[in-house]
Amino acid sequence: MAIMTIDQAQRRILDDARLTPVVELPLAQLLGRVLREDVIARYDVPPCKNSAMDGYVLCVDDLGSAPTLPVVDRIVAGDPVKTLPAGGVARIFTGAPIPKGANAVVMQEEVDVDGDRVRISGSVKLGDHIRPQGQDLRSGETVFEAGRRLDAVDIGLLAAAGYSSAKVATPPRVALLSTGDELVDPGEPLAHAGQIYNSNRPMLAAMLTTLGCDVTDGGIVRDDAAATGRALLNAAQADLVISTGGVSVGEEDYVKSQVEALGELQLWKLAIKPGKPVAYGRIQEAAFFGLPGNPASSFVTFALIVRPYLLAMQGASNRQAKLWKMRAGFDWLKEGTRQEYLRAQLVQDEAGMRVDIYPNQSSGVLKSVSWANALAVIPPGVTLKQGDPVDVLLMSELLA
Ligand code: AMP
Ligand code: MG
Repeated sequence: MAIMTIDQAQRRILDDARLTPVVELPLAQLLGRVLREDVIARYDVPPCKNSAMDGYVLCVDDLGSAPTLPVVDRIVAGDPVKTLPAGGVARIFTGAPIPKGANAVVMQEEVDVDGDRVRISGSVKLGDHIRPQGQDLRSGETVFEAGRRLDAVDIGLLAAAGYSSAKVATPPRVALLSTGDELVDPGEPLAHAGQIYNSNRPMLAAMLTTLGCDVTDGGIVRDDAAATGRALLNAAQADLVISTGGVSVGEEDYVKSQVEALGELQLWKLAIKPGKPVAYGRIQEAAFFGLPGNPASSFVTFALIVRPYLLAMQGASNRQAKLWKMRAGFDWLKEGTRQEYLRAQLVQDEAGMRVDIYPNQSSGVLKSVSWANALAVIPPGVTLKQGDPVDVLLMSELLA
């Protein structure tokens, strides 16, 4: 079994990800979807100069021509572009179009109103409080390139640019299987102390949903060759099959042999901790990932390997969470042979951002992952002292 770094594993599989088809969806269904076409602004935004303030709009050349100027018009947001007669000013409101012949807005706080005339005392400069046409978007400008995963603000910008829908990736259809004779569905009673609740499935289902996937529950699969084979074959109608547990090389681990029998399998040992052997392959037309059963290992391998793969299937250009340089709040004195992903918390102190780690880093302790807002990444052969720089991945990115 080959020992691989995360980078090697990613290089090996990301090119193998098959793109899901393109679908056009309305704005209300675009959150988290990956754009599959460039989006070009259809209009200047704003389409004409408008006022940034409530006040009076005028031509600066008219100032000083008389002690007061007549208010000849009232312009509100939504009005068409008007024309300001020479020598006059107009009442204007935020977002209202600047009339032809005008070139500055004076805030209402700086104007003395005297009946239907105004006195302007302060200095007024050309262009004051005028928002230029197209300051947000220029017609023809590329608003987003294909590959962008749309967030709430992006959806707002699409609307501003003149779109009510966009072409995005179809959700990958993912079937999720949990292997293990010890597993019990939440809601069912535990019959004896040898049983545990299936925590991987709801955790991974939630992560898959966040990643825009259409999740099918393949249920709990007993540690039995025939049952594992049947469940895998049934699940292979999806685009991607993910199983947890049973992927080691123990006597009760049937995933490996069944995927080999039904399709093709690459099994490798990732040089990471937590993380046991991870399997990748195909069963018929479906891609397959076999993740380790320990909950922290399941989380880490999903976040580091499966998440980028699912984003690649959707055509996303940004698939990797970023590494951020922070300051260790702990000693790491024993060199490891694998890259460690320590469950960590970023804490703000007088000196800036400090990285603390959870006291129990066992891969069976899911609470450590829940407690964490970051994973501290410690390469093999590296030791650290408090105060040393350390790379972290943010949980907010890994869970996005
Ligand atoms: P395995 O990879 O099947 O050898 O499982 C490794 C460890 O993870 C064992 O302690 C299992 O009980 C535990 N485990 C496996 N699957 C799950 C699951 N779905 N939820 C919680 N724990 C699990
Ligand atoms: Mg098992």
